[in-house]
Amino acid sequence: MSLEQQPIVEIQNVTKQFGSLYAVDDVSLSIYPGEFFSLLGASGCGKTTLLRMLAGFETPSSGRILIDGQDITDLPPYKRPINMMFQSYALFPHMSVADNIAFGLKQDKMPKAERDARVQEMLQLVQIEKLAKRKPHQLSGGQRQRVALARALAKHPKILLLDEPLGALDKKLREQTQFELVNLQERLGITFIVVTHDQEEAMTMSSRIALLREGRVVQVDAPRRLYEYPNCTYSADFIGTINLLDAEVVSQDEDLVTLKTDAFEQPLQVFHGQPLIADMNVTVAVRPEKIRVVQSCQAGAANQIQGVIKEIAYLGDVSIYHVELASGKRVQFTQSNIQALAEQPLSWEDKVCLTWQADACTLLLE
Ligand code: ATP
Repeated sequence: MSLEQQPIVEIQNVTKQFGSLYAVDDVSLSIYPGEFFSLLGASGCGKTTLLRMLAGFETPSSGRILIDGQDITDLPPYKRPINMMFQSYALFPHMSVADNIAFGLKQDKMPKAERDARVQEMLQLVQIEKLAKRKPHQLSGGQRQRVALARALAKHPKILLLDEPLGALDKKLREQTQFELVNLQERLGITFIVVTHDQEEAMTMSSRIALLREGRVVQVDAPRRLYEYPNCTYSADFIGTINLLDAEVVSQDEDLVTLKTDAFEQPLQVFHGQPLIADMNVTVAVRPEKIRVVQSCQAGAANQIQGVIKEIAYLGDVSIYHVELASGKRVQFTQSNIQALAEQPLSWEDKVCLTWQADACTLLLE
């Protein structure tokens, strides 16, 4: 994706009201050709409503939707260069796999020979040639998902909308299918717009993610930026695990900010480019993997805290440690289990000193 390109989809100040509820509230987004773009957010935040407006199944209460610079807000679904794969797959139970895939092509009156060739192409694309004659009830969940995908791609849409495409699959199959879906999208070069509430899934698959909350866009960024540079506590907390420390600005020396917190006595230090006001209440966010254990804490040193290990969760490759500070506040850190073996293993009730670099944490204003 190049941001110098023209967006393929422009959502301009789109709002959708159901009575007094703002399901989507003044959302503006630009999506570029060939992107794997995810709409991510908790249940009820308006992801599906936004997707349905793109498909044409819902009409915005206000705002416009453009595709390739053309206003399609009032176009019916079948006139849009878009197709949608539904969460439930919505396969026709009485039709064979091949007939399910051919359905939209038949409606478009595509000649039989061309249609058969297209169905064959789609069966090959998602690797289910051998299942062409089966009915949906004779398929596994993963196979049904492939049929739904093949059907949604059969018309060669410019844009494919996918509502929780992996939601019905078990964890193992979901992880495997994530890579297949990205691979397929890259090969076809079609713009995918995907709804998901699963942040790991969004992080694995997407070129960019729009994080939504209560109908509004919180942050739009590439997965790595969303993780490394959350723009607010909601974003920070939604993506992965993070320690959030309420703090008060003490001073700022160029970009280096010194803060105090009620959670512990030592000062906090963090880099922040924008000018801040003394006594301002902010949040300092530190990812668990940025925290290291050191031999002992130095009195008055910044970003060093002492506590007691109260919980250890073993996850195979890493362990998560919950450390309780004297104030009662808990902080989490992770350590690779290989590293833990090489060093002295940590155990429950151990007193530890934790530290992190000023450039390994983020200052958040809201
Ligand atoms: P989920 O992940 O649970 O599917 P979502 O983020 O996709 O949630 P939406 O389905 O878009 O959320 O719903 C957003 C809000 O709009 C919710 O509060 C929902 O109850 C409401 N809503 C959606 N469709 C309608 C409708 N047709 N009539 C009234 N309210 C609706």
